[in-house]
Amino acid sequence: MSRSQDYLFKLVMVGEMAVGKTSLLVRYTDKIFDSNYKNTLGCDFKIKNVEVDNRQVTLQIWDTSGQERFQSIVSSFYRNADGLIIVFDVTCMESFHRVSKWLRDAEYYCGSKPIKERILIGNKTDKAELRVVDFKKAEKYAQSLGMSYIETSAKDNKNVTQAFDGLTKRMLDSYGCTGWMGDVDVGSVIKLDDNATDVSSYSGYCCSYF
Ligand code: GDP
Ligand code: MG
Repeated sequence: MSRSQDYLFKLVMVGEMAVGKTSLLVRYTDKIFDSNYKNTLGCDFKIKNVEVDNRQVTLQIWDTSGQERFQSIVSSFYRNADGLIIVFDVTCMESFHRVSKWLRDAEYYCGSKPIKERILIGNKTDKAELRVVDFKKAEKYAQSLGMSYIETSAKDNKNVTQAFDGLTKRMLDSYGCTGWMGDVDVGSVIKLDDNATDVSSYSGYCCSYF
């Protein structure tokens, strides 16, 4: 396959603490679920290679804790992001109410370069008996914010791949010819080195709080 069609997108994941951001990310990148994650300190990111619509895409997915004390690093977190994922917990009404706060933050920190492609994820659908946020209500709310809505369970691996791949497809459609790629505005496509294919399990740590 020709490597000339490779793309690199930066995604950022936000939402209240404990809604399942890290669980979704690890489920997507490493195909596992572990109920004992430590709180994410500051933020870190993972890299995943995917093929969407016959195009090779490298995703750099940034994960953050929802704690206000990390606000000082958020501008670098949002910088040059191509896609935004806001996560809430369908069993926690407060996390749903805070979605607008996360969207406002993203808009504020991105300034003149708003993140065009964004999705809202309602996670933990496996806890059906504890659900307090109605699907239709969340979907309607997402639409009113110009976002698409999808419900997931990181635990049961439900819709996780669909959520990330769906957003990737929309980024490809949207930025395929004009997007920001990583930290460098290269106009469109980053051509990756042929030897640089094996980065699917790579993860990094970018910020610390001590
Ligand atoms: P984060 O703070 O948003 O990164 O949330 P975590 O990924 O650390 O998850 C917080 C807690 O929710 C952990 O105990 C997870 O095991 C649990 N959790 C995450 N996703 C799910 C899910 O889809 N279903 C259930 N039942 N628990 C989940
Ligand atoms: Mg986390």
